[in-house]
Amino acid sequence: MSLAIPPGTFDVVPQSCKEPWKQASIWQYVERVCRKIANGYACQEVRTPIFERTELFCRSVGEETDIVNKEMYTFEDRGNRSLTLRPEGTASVMRSFITNKLQNLGAYHRLFYLGPMFRYERPQAGRYRQHHQFGVEVLGSDQEEQDAELLVLIYHLFEALGLQNVEFIVNHLGTDSERADYRSSLIQYLKKHEDKLSSDSQRRLQTNPLRILDSKDQADQQILELAPKIQHFLGEESSTSFNKIIKLLDNLKVPYKVDPHLVRGLDYYTGFVYEVKAGKLAAQSSLGGGGRYDGLLKSLGGPDLPSCGFAIGLERVIQTLLEQGNFEVPFQSSQVLIVPMGMRELEHGLSIASRVRKEGISCQLLMKPTKLKNGLKKASQNGNRFVLIIGQDEMEKEVYTLKDMQESNQVEVTLEQLVEHLARG
Ligand code: AMP
Repeated sequence: MSLAIPPGTFDVVPQSCKEPWKQASIWQYVERVCRKIANGYACQEVRTPIFERTELFCRSVGEETDIVNKEMYTFEDRGNRSLTLRPEGTASVMRSFITNKLQNLGAYHRLFYLGPMFRYERPQAGRYRQHHQFGVEVLGSDQEEQDAELLVLIYHLFEALGLQNVEFIVNHLGTDSERADYRSSLIQYLKKHEDKLSSDSQRRLQTNPLRILDSKDQADQQILELAPKIQHFLGEESSTSFNKIIKLLDNLKVPYKVDPHLVRGLDYYTGFVYEVKAGKLAAQSSLGGGGRYDGLLKSLGGPDLPSCGFAIGLERVIQTLLEQGNFEVPFQSSQVLIVPMGMRELEHGLSIASRVRKEGISCQLLMKPTKLKNGLKKASQNGNRFVLIIGQDEMEKEVYTLKDMQESNQVEVTLEQLVEHLARG
């Protein structure tokens, strides 16, 4: 029997010297910043189950996408229902919106989610079988300002995290009928070069030709250089809308590049789409992406609300932060370490710790009595700011020695003075 962790998964642990991106304090920090920004943009949290009926993803993400075709963790439960571990968040949020009749609360909604997603992909750097996304969904606005606001939110988030060289890649996929015309023209062109296309692209030519546009294969790329561009198939309304968003981004000083080959890997996208990058992470440089999916909610049986949103991959964000080199891993240790020098002192220490913690001060009590020297060594390894020593004398007089490891000094304190001192920091 092997108890090895399944391929493509990882543990978040208190410390990992070899792979610091797995350190819990970084995850907590990044999640905290995501929630803070979401709150700052008046987005409210939605938590959905990590599994849904399989049909939800087939109908929203699309039968012919890689995600549904090759990457879903699908299983039958004991009631013979086909269920799937969610590969992405949007479909679940839309389903939840409908299930909970959130439309009764109004015609405009700003939602966010944060949690694990599951895709059976070939594990490699930046690509996991369980990864985590922070995503925002806005329902009820078809304004270009709304699209632009979401890019600003991402930009703001990355700035708050300390990411550098952030850049958006943007494109417009047109309306359903514009995209259908473009699709036919692209197929016509690619058919002429079919024998030179990679085998993946040959297959996609039958199933999902637009996906060929973001093939990384060199031969495919060369063929695509002369392929028809979506921009030439956009009607006036789509072009005007795209230009308006671009102008808004200029005014807001959000850096972007237009890439006519950007298509997203999920079928529900319509209109404006984007990806966001920062620095380099080998081939997996996309940290997140999003766009518009105006017809999605209605197609799942909900009200006809235009919608847009994005998802950011937290693994890649954290890895890029560390890779860029100017991020200090947040250090996590309790503010005070209580060092009892004997068994009776340990019992006494337990009530002191409890009093201190009631004040919201983080505190660790050494469960094994030890000498002063060992206690101080432990505190400097841990990174505790203060050490409280409890010896027999201290216990009897109820006056304790509090050492400040940072300032290298010490004071004698009663329990109440201790609490005051620690609260002051
Ligand atoms: P998507 O839903 O495919 O648009 O993905 C949104 C973001 O999630 C991507 O830009 C990545 O940052 C992240 N992501 C997607 N798939 C994976 C994966 N298998 N492993 C790690 N991150 C992923």
